[in-house]
Amino acid sequence: MNIAIILAGGKGSRIKSDIPKQFVEISGQMMLIHSMLPFAQTLYVGNIIVVADEKWQEDIEDALSENETLSEKMLGFAEPGENRQLSIYNGLKLIEEMGLADLCENVIIHDAARPFVTVECIEECMAALDEHDGAMPVLPMNDTVYYSRSGDKVDELLNRNCVFAGQAPEAFDYKKYYQANKALLPDKILLIKGSTEPAVMAGLDVALIPGDQRNFKVTTDEDLERAKQILE
Ligand code: C5P
Repeated sequence: MNIAIILAGGKGSRIKSDIPKQFVEISGQMMLIHSMLPFAQTLYVGNIIVVADEKWQEDIEDALSENETLSEKMLGFAEPGENRQLSIYNGLKLIEEMGLADLCENVIIHDAARPFVTVECIEECMAALDEHDGAMPVLPMNDTVYYSRSGDKVDELLNRNCVFAGQAPEAFDYKKYYQANKALLPDKILLIKGSTEPAVMAGLDVALIPGDQRNFKVTTDEDLERAKQILE
């Protein structure tokens, strides 16, 4: 059994909107639903957990009830954490609390704020787990990259062929990844920025698969406008 954890626990403070970006309606549907639909469409994912604040859960359930496959796969809600990685941890913990730890083989983690994920991307991530502990879609760097500690002078040169930008969704062996996250409690987990960091810190083998420029994360008002233009 493979479970998707969809992260909708952020407050979206970088967007000028009264509601968090993942709940904004685009083309008649919450951004969260756009981000979840490809997970309903693949056989690689059996169930879905959504990380979202209690006050949004009823609205989300209403939106899910309009899609039979999505509501069938919906397993439950996890509480948002103080940062994104703690939200992921809460999703991983919910699997254990529901008594599914032994049944759950792999997890795939996605941002509700990335409404352009495709079924192909999800399936490529999951397929990579046959030979690896984890998998992450990445983009090559098109610009030259430099390392600077202060941000105002170059300290070191980097070979851009060896530098990649990580996207979501990221897929992992459930037990190994849960363990890797537990090892960072209570404080180190607060410093984590990307879902793959705990896996790498625990020595897991994470495969890189080709990402897609179109699978961008809605972060700014400009991103939201772009997402609306594409979907509408
Ligand atoms: O803030 P950022 O854009 O990096 O968030 C990426 C995704 O993680 C969003 O879908 C957001 O809702 C989610 N998130 C979360 N819990 C947090 C912070 C962010 O589920 N504490």
